[in-house]
Amino acid sequence: MEKETILGVQVCVTDYPQIKAAIKEDLEAQRKAFLVAINPEKILKARKDEALKNLLNNATYQIADGVGVVYASKLRGGKIRSRVTGIDSMKMLCELSDENGYRIFMYGAKEEILQKAKEKLIETYPNIQIAGTMNGYQKDKQAVVDAINESKADIVLVAMGSPRQENWIVENMNTVCAKVFQGVGGSFDVVSGTIPRAPQWMQKCGLEWLFRLLREPKRIGRQIHLVSFLFLALFSRH
Ligand code: UDP
Repeated sequence: MEKETILGVQVCVTDYPQIKAAIKEDLEAQRKAFLVAINPEKILKARKDEALKNLLNNATYQIADGVGVVYASKLRGGKIRSRVTGIDSMKMLCELSDENGYRIFMYGAKEEILQKAKEKLIETYPNIQIAGTMNGYQKDKQAVVDAINESKADIVLVAMGSPRQENWIVENMNTVCAKVFQGVGGSFDVVSGTIPRAPQWMQKCGLEWLFRLLREPKRIGRQIHLVSFLFLALFSRH
């Protein structure tokens, strides 16, 4: 898959149908694949953290989750024109399960939220195969691995926030029997209805960040980096 490098971090030039087809092929070929969501905050952190940079670049698919990544690509004359968000990619994996019977393991979030998210996914995708669940506060690491292996899952969705979820995936993806892994952040909270997602018009205008900021003003510390990120992205072009 074609990739662009933005401030040292690779990002796929793709859309949902293309990445869905690529992952279906991975599943059919029993190939391991790891999807990681890329946003300006992660790219800025990776500039200072070589290990994080390697982790992101070693993933199979780096999706342009943050609108800032799309802007950066445009500023640099790149080809990324729209977001491929973490939550919509998670839904795409749910569709693959619904359509082809792949088994999904949901790992992360608080137990009550996790169970609500599972119910909602079953409501939305009647043929989805949820092979098992484990909340994100299980202390016994081996219990998590055993539960996933016993479930015979094909896909593992890991919802524990970054970089916790990415670290877990890298540490476990080669020993756990499942093939496809995605770090989905707070997506179980959103799918369960615990945290609302921005209205469609805000998503379309690239204002999802503003919606999240208005809901959780403490995020300003994280989002203020967007400005310096865009300057750096533009500057580093020359
Ligand atoms: N979480 C978890 N285990 C932990 C810490 C966090 O399962 O030890 C879950 C938490 O319950 C929430 C999600 O991780 O569901 C955090 O999502 P957040 O929105 O912070 O992630 P982001 O998308 O911003 O990376």
